[in-house]
Amino acid sequence: MIDDRLSIESMADPDLVKRRLSVWLRGESAFGLRSVAVDWKAIQDLQAAKRPAAASNAAAAPKPSPRSLFAPTEELDLPAEPQAAAFTQPVASRPEKAAMLAQMDGDQVKPCEHCRLCKTRKNTVFGEGDPDAGIFFVGEGPGENEDLQGRPFVGRAGELLNKMIAGMGLRREQVYIANIVKCRPPDNRVPAPDEVEACTPFLVRQLEIVRPKVIVTLGLPASKYMLASRLSMGKLRGQWHNWRGIKLMPTYHPAYLLRSYTEENRAAVWSDLKKVMAEVGLPIPGKSAR
Ligand code: SF4
Repeated sequence: MIDDRLSIESMADPDLVKRRLSVWLRGESAFGLRSVAVDWKAIQDLQAAKRPAAASNAAAAPKPSPRSLFAPTEELDLPAEPQAAAFTQPVASRPEKAAMLAQMDGDQVKPCEHCRLCKTRKNTVFGEGDPDAGIFFVGEGPGENEDLQGRPFVGRAGELLNKMIAGMGLRREQVYIANIVKCRPPDNRVPAPDEVEACTPFLVRQLEIVRPKVIVTLGLPASKYMLASRLSMGKLRGQWHNWRGIKLMPTYHPAYLLRSYTEENRAAVWSDLKKVMAEVGLPIPGKSAR
């Protein structure tokens, strides 16, 4: 079963299956994933990154968890965003939003020393994109490339995220991308609960300013934090959730997709993104736009 439209009943009609498979393949092609080669070296690197952090950092931080971002069924003991009421402040204009975000980055995030991650970071990674974006992607935290460049999702996972965005018919500059922590956790470990607690007011404020129509959480830590849920990614993804009055769609992290590059996982992410596209009024391959 590669698509939710290929139901058990439809399998009884070979022509229908063929037609729907054709539509699905067009969508898959638009998604851009066919052109992503399986990079086994990257996969081995990602698997290596899952091993417990080096002993040199163990004293400075709470006992590090493996980077379970890539394990979609794993439980994480991270704090969760309280399910607060919807934002009530009036929505600002695009120039006002841009100015507020730039001010927060310069005045609060760049000099921030609210948690131990400030000691090991090279750069803070505030986030970037259209301050008036309809779609806001939320990841876990910066990796090595992001830390070096001060930008979110610029490594291999970032390349795949770019392809996912392109598959939606958008450019990266037309969405907003940020993480739940703004500084890189050493050895790519999962952010510690107190680090998430210290940093996420910045993310909440970014969301309050941008006020997107849809939030897409990438991977378990971001989904778990935003939804105050202990469910696995397999159970969270593919369904709409509500976050302060904004529709939220969890999906697999691009890094997980790179590691588990299966037809099933690609179809799951594409299916999630098609729901997002429908929600924001983007045309979907094989369907007329709303
Ligand atoms: Fe500040 Fe967040 Fe960086 Fe911690 S991770 S130092 S709270 S910006």
